[in-house]
This record gives sequence, C-alpha cells and structure tokens, in this order.
Amino acid sequence: MKPLTTSQIQSIDRLHIWHPYSSMNHSVPSYYIKSASGVRLKLADGRELIDGMSSWWCAIHGYNHPTLNAAISVQMEKMAHIMFGGLTHEPAARLAKTLVDLTPNALDKVFFSDSGSVSVEVAIKMALQYWQSSGRPEKSKFLALQNGYHGDTFAAMSVCDPDTGMHHLFGDVLAKQIFTESPRCQFDKPFDPASILDLETKFYMHASELAAVILEPIVQGAGGMRFYSPEYLSAARLLCDRYDVLLIADEIATGFGRTGKLFASEWANISPDILCLGKALTGGYMTLAATLCSEKVSDGICQGEAGIFMHGPTFMANPLACSVAIASIELLLESSWQGQIISIEKQLRAGLAPCAELSSVADVRVLGAIGVVEMKKPVNIAVIQRELVEVGVWLRPFGKLIYVMPPYIMSPEDLTQLTTAMVKVIGKL
Ligand SMILES: *Cc1c(COP(=O)(O)O)cnc(C)c1O
Repeated sequence: MKPLTTSQIQSIDRLHIWHPYSSMNHSVPSYYIKSASGVRLKLADGRELIDGMSSWWCAIHGYNHPTLNAAISVQMEKMAHIMFGGLTHEPAARLAKTLVDLTPNALDKVFFSDSGSVSVEVAIKMALQYWQSSGRPEKSKFLALQNGYHGDTFAAMSVCDPDTGMHHLFGDVLAKQIFTESPRCQFDKPFDPASILDLETKFYMHASELAAVILEPIVQGAGGMRFYSPEYLSAARLLCDRYDVLLIADEIATGFGRTGKLFASEWANISPDILCLGKALTGGYMTLAATLCSEKVSDGICQGEAGIFMHGPTFMANPLACSVAIASIELLLESSWQGQIISIEKQLRAGLAPCAELSSVADVRVLGAIGVVEMKKPVNIAVIQRELVEVGVWLRPFGKLIYVMPPYIMSPEDLTQLTTAMVKVIGKL
C-alpha cells in the first residue's frame, strides 16, 4: 500500500472529512500529525508540539505508552471483540470490579458503553426507568446547571447549558429540562450559603417532576471551565435526599485524578446514585465509557414492568478497550499521581500568573492539572493556534477560554515551555 502524501491527506481531509464543530465549506486546515509519543505530537513536517490538551482530558499517561500498547497487543491475540449479549470476558470483569472498588461506595453496578455522551444517555434512561418502575412516571424531568456540558447526543444535549452548551439550535426539539444557575461559589473562596438559593428553589418548585439532578462535580468543563465549591456539591446531595431525587454525577472529564482527587465527588465526600465515566478511562487509547449505579437504582429498574434495563450497544464492553482501561488505571494507581497533580497545579499557578496582569484577561484560575485563562473577548482560535504551534505548543481554545490540561507525566521543563508560550501569545492579544 502506497502511503498518501501530506498534500493528498490534507486535500482528502478538506474535501471529505468533518472535524469536531467544523464547517465543510470554510474549513480551517487541520494539522497533520504523523505520530505521538510521551507528551509530544509529531507533525508531518518534523516539528513537535508539546500537548497541553491530553487529547481532550484523555491521554493522562501521554502517548505511545509501552504498558498501554502491550495491554492491547496481549488482548488482541485472544480476541478483539465479541458481542456482550449473553457472553462475557475477563477484561470486562476485571474492569468492572476495579471501577466498583475505586468509585464512591454505593456504586456497584456497571454499564459499559462506547462514549461519554452515550454513558449520559444511559444515566438518563436509568433514572427514567427507575421512577417508572417505582410507579412515579411523572418524575421525568432533569435539573441541570447553567454552564454545564454533558455531551452531543439528544438527551445529553437537553441537559447542557441552553446557551453555552453549543446546542441552542436544537432547542425546539430537545426535551425541556429545568435549569438552575451556575454555582457562583468559587472553589477556593469562602462558601456563601446564598449560592445554593436558586438550587433550593428549583427543588422546592419541581421535586415532584424531577427524576434526577445531573451535574459535573466541582469542574464545569466544556460549558465554561469553572470550578465551584465542594459545599455546593454536598448541598446538592442533601437536597436530592430530602426531595427524593436521584443524583447523576458526570465525571467524564474529572474522573481519574484530574482535579487532584481520583474522582471530583471525593472533594465533598459524596456518592452519587449514578456516575458517568469516560475520557481518561482508557488513558486516551480507545473509546469507552461506563455508567455506574447503586443497587437501589438497579433494583428499582429491574423490579419494574420491563424487568430489564433497555439498552445494549453493539460494542458494549469491547475487550481491547477494557484491557487498556485496566492497564491505564493500574499505571495511574502505581504512579505518584497525586504528587504529580500537586506539582502541575503549583507550576500552572506560577506560570500563568503573569496573564492576570494583562488588560485583555478577565480571570486566571487553576485547579489540579487544569489551568484556565479567561479572556474578556472571544479569541480567534485559528490565529491563536497558529501562533502557539509556532512556539511548539498544542492547545485548543474555545470562546473566551484558553486553557491547558497536560498529561500527568509532563516534565517541569515541558510545562514551563507550555505556560511561557501561553503567556507570550496571550500577551499579544
Ligand atoms: C466530553 C464530555 C462528555 C461527552 O463525552 P464524549 O465521549 O465526547 O461523548 C460528557 N460530559 C462531560 C463532562 C464531558 O467532558
């Protein structure tokens, strides 16, 4: 097979391939990456970029990791995939047991699916089936947070922020949910009880029709990169208990250490009724997600009229994906990840601090291995990306946000290069 030339690849890409949130008519050229290793993406022209995105929160151990590569090769020799209806395998069993052991206490039933958005669909369906089975079908709405993001499929879209969630075009078609204001209490500021007033009001007004609250614990990601107080999360848990509403924690972005805890729910020591995991689950190698629920929820669902949970993806619990997920979690737990996150956090704070002095910058915030520079005005992504690539750095800003979430294995030197590049490029805006 003759390899395609760079220009052939770029031309096919431009003519035929959609990229995330992109136009087929006014396409912005994509950078052509030949390989990736450690924290570096290697461009076809030989240049290397330090990756500040971990491929959207996923590649926590970096690229081309020998242990993760081996996990896939070993499993490949046995089988790449089998249907999960009526069949089972060791990778699924090991991964399920690992997730049950690691996640907050109550969660011990695991549903595997292909992507984060689907795991959110599954969570929503679980909550709906739970209330139907319990003879309360009127509990069919979801309370979601402004600035929240939960994925791109239809039920997931309905619980994204109607404005910042990127899905306002579909407003008329989406299920109508209930929204509460984005938590105003910042993560590192003293908690002001007034910041849960709107949440309390929404419970008070709507509890009888609410199936569940869905939220991203502590860090609101793609809807605005905001960090909020653990006390807000505790309050949400208490309100769910008081008003008999389920709590769905979407930890697709925050899971596996990113915020400094293995799961962000641990900041408030709470256990959700349903938990969504994805992204870093496989260390960024393959697409896999999991929805965990408590026995209360699974019992409720299975005692109902259907007696079964109505979902079953073709590629459910793909053995290759499960194997690499197990290897990635083992790598994480064997590493000194907590120390790594603390060092990254310190370095991000110091490295990004100069941005706070700039008149174009509205806010600089850091939590765990996440650094955010919020600008006063939306940035031109293509322009800023070009400048960052010129100084050897890969980031993908959106809206007013220029943010970084490096692989945990990044060396202090590489991280310095990243933050220095950000300060330099942002300084020119
Ligand atoms: C990325 C993300 C999703 C969607 O996951 P996909 O794998 O892209 O479908 C859902 N919720 C949160 C919090 C996310 O960050």
